[in-house]
Amino acid sequence: MNTLTSQQLFEKAQHYIPGGVNSPVRAFRAVGGSPVFIKSAKGPYIYDEDGNEYIELINSWGPMILGHAHELIQKAVQDAVQHSFSFGAPTRREVEMAELIVSMVPSIEKVRMVNSGTEATMSAIRVARGFTGRDKIIKFEGCYHGHGDSFLIAAGSGAVTFGTPDSPGVTRGVANDTLTAPYNDLNAVRQLVDANKNHIAALILEPIVGNMGCVLPEEGFLQGLRKICDEEGIVLILDEVMTGFRLSKGGAQERFGITPDLTTLGKIIGGGMPVGAYGGKAEIMNWVSPAGPVYQAGTLSGNPIAMAAGLAMLNYLNEHPEVYTRLEEAGNRLASGFRTSMQKLGLNYTLNHVGSMYTLFFTDQPVTDFPSAKASDLILFGKYFHAMLNKGIYMGPSQFESMFLSTALTDDHIDTIVSANEESLKEILSL
Ligand code: PMP
Repeated sequence: MNTLTSQQLFEKAQHYIPGGVNSPVRAFRAVGGSPVFIKSAKGPYIYDEDGNEYIELINSWGPMILGHAHELIQKAVQDAVQHSFSFGAPTRREVEMAELIVSMVPSIEKVRMVNSGTEATMSAIRVARGFTGRDKIIKFEGCYHGHGDSFLIAAGSGAVTFGTPDSPGVTRGVANDTLTAPYNDLNAVRQLVDANKNHIAALILEPIVGNMGCVLPEEGFLQGLRKICDEEGIVLILDEVMTGFRLSKGGAQERFGITPDLTTLGKIIGGGMPVGAYGGKAEIMNWVSPAGPVYQAGTLSGNPIAMAAGLAMLNYLNEHPEVYTRLEEAGNRLASGFRTSMQKLGLNYTLNHVGSMYTLFFTDQPVTDFPSAKASDLILFGKYFHAMLNKGIYMGPSQFESMFLSTALTDDHIDTIVSANEESLKEILSL
């Protein structure tokens, strides 16, 4: 595969951009080699600067549920740009967007638009602190909630990929206010809560983790957290930046039947444009300025082009339940194909899978939390990643990421991924 243009671009990029990229995981450091620079994408395919075609499994880290450059979203954006790009003033589409989100996610009574998942989570904990009058938060080891200071403690995704789960630059004061517990460990949460009675404002988690690779909550874990939060007056925040509108119309919370106090949403609700949102109980959201005293603002929040893209996407998802049937089918077909291949090859790697999200971990032990995710053979993952890339499959370049399927993938595409997986495993293990 010729990737000369990408290599040249990366050379140049490193002169002007720290590490040559605008978000760390993109640099391929965890898997070695030089990143491919993307030129375009359509449907299930993504194309690099050298003209190589790949089947897409990143999908902008989640939002491209319908595949790339979907005609409906393209048209909505084209229509919107006729009327200028930003007003910094209220618009009709923001109201429609809020109404739609509230109708699709029953736990959300009021919602505020922001520009990224990071802003959504930062703002959600601020309002939780204002509402409760408490300072501390609990997060889970290996969960990633964007790059807000409070969350760069035992963080997942790029933060763990680059060995900086606790980032320099975060003050001791902020770090002291972030308590961490192992994922899927209710007892640990109980102990933290008991040791910090009346000091914990919020508990935030990914209801299904995407950022230590795909990790599922064990039976009763989410319900147990809900109970602790109810008993202790703690605001339960589900970070559905990856899972919202993907795992079902109402996100992971609908799938698991759990009602959070606040929900954070991201990239998906912009159909790929820079958008985030946080929302939940009116009683809490009414603390947000100008309804209440907790300040949070944004010139570009509710940006008209981003709202047009997001509305087109969410309306489509709302009106086409078959999207979710297809995402389940595609995920099940891929998972059963991977399992059959592993059986055939006598391998026992752990495949975590739910709906259209999955991660193949290079360990034979169950992966249920951060330490078990980190037990994976990262060198082997790097080899696997490159073997897949060479076969035209574009995956997240780290073991600590989930893959995301889109409805643009046909059964034939899924079968191609399954064959590439089998061939890649044979190749890297010399089977
Ligand atoms: N929360 C979760 C669960 C995420 O996966 C991410 C990003 N992948 C974020 C928050 C941060 O979102 P953003 O990158 O848009 O700031």
